[in-house]
Amino acid sequence: MENRKIMVSGGTGYIGSWVVKELLEKGYKVRLTSRNTSNKTKFEHLLQIAEANKGALEIWEADLLKEGSFDEAAKGCDAIMHIASPFTLRFKDPQKELINPALKGTRNVLQAANKSGTVKKVVLTSSVAAVHGDAIDMQEKGLDAFTEDHWNNTSSIKHQPYSYSKVLAEKEAWRIYEAQKEWKLVVINPSFVIGPSLTKMSDSESLSLMKDLLGGKYATGMPELWFGFVDVRDVAKAHLLALENEYVSGRHILADRSMTMLDYAQIIREKYGNQYKLPKKESPKWLISLIGPLFGMKRGFVKRNVGYPIKLNASKSIKELGLNYTDIEKSAVDMVEQMKEFGMIVK
Ligand code: NDP
Repeated sequence: MENRKIMVSGGTGYIGSWVVKELLEKGYKVRLTSRNTSNKTKFEHLLQIAEANKGALEIWEADLLKEGSFDEAAKGCDAIMHIASPFTLRFKDPQKELINPALKGTRNVLQAANKSGTVKKVVLTSSVAAVHGDAIDMQEKGLDAFTEDHWNNTSSIKHQPYSYSKVLAEKEAWRIYEAQKEWKLVVINPSFVIGPSLTKMSDSESLSLMKDLLGGKYATGMPELWFGFVDVRDVAKAHLLALENEYVSGRHILADRSMTMLDYAQIIREKYGNQYKLPKKESPKWLISLIGPLFGMKRGFVKRNVGYPIKLNASKSIKELGLNYTDIEKSAVDMVEQMKEFGMIVK
């Protein structure tokens, strides 16, 4: 791996930091891009990991929204991991804050791959949000589980705009890929990612939700919301497997299992008892519909998501990528321990 140079966008973030760690441990040369290289707190942890490992780390400035911004960074690289994209449900302007960076960012990064003359593979971090929209979609489409064959066709800029940004970005990636012959595209579609963070600086919803849970935001009750869950370290491993295995192609759903948010809280309660004001019950749907808007949950979202189980078929990630899943119990506990250590929990 020593001479292989990989450009990584979004390597400063929650998932990206674990991907960069894996690459550095394996001896790759990592060219990390960040919007603002003067803010060293964003990548100090990665410089320390680079010091302790055989790989090498370069930090380059590039912005998803600026055309041509990744062109120089991509030159001379063998592959690109395009991870960068905002993952937040706390936004004011979905076009500006979610869709533009996701869609224009994908276009800019993949055009940089086209211009590089050296890139042979792109690994794209999409999401199960590009596979399905609302939880009720499974029932409405008559499915037992979502697979890589499915696309989210129910999200829009007004309804689930984060999911919509991921659909637009992944579709754009496949369009640009089809129009060239120089590089292969492998897509990773993680479900909700949990597990310890290497950085305090991420705005990822994975960390925000855990902070809210432990901080007591849902102490009086939780909506019955179902998600697939996957460990952040497994997500990083999947990116490396996608990079290194020349036979893998297409999309890859990542999920250890599906469960409700209350199940997630329950795993933490089993280990920590009453140390945190975790929810003990689910609130009725009518109540969530009434007060949901105060928690940032629109009524249309509540109607089509609360109370509908979802199932994700992640067998391709096991059979073709060769991924072994970490138990979600371990992921949740490791995450709480890391947040305690970093002083990230406000009770
Ligand atoms: P983070 O917020 O921790 O990471 C996002 C990264 O994107 C940051 O490192 C940031 O780098 C970069 N970025 C560049 N431009 C922008 C922008 N305009 N707004 C926000 N971030 C920007 O999130 P995650 O690590 O959770 O997410 C990484 C990827 O994984 C995203 O593509 C997300 O959609 C996807 N994903 C995440 C899941 C999860 O549960 N966490 C589930 C499924 C998919 P910098 O600030 O240095 O420029």
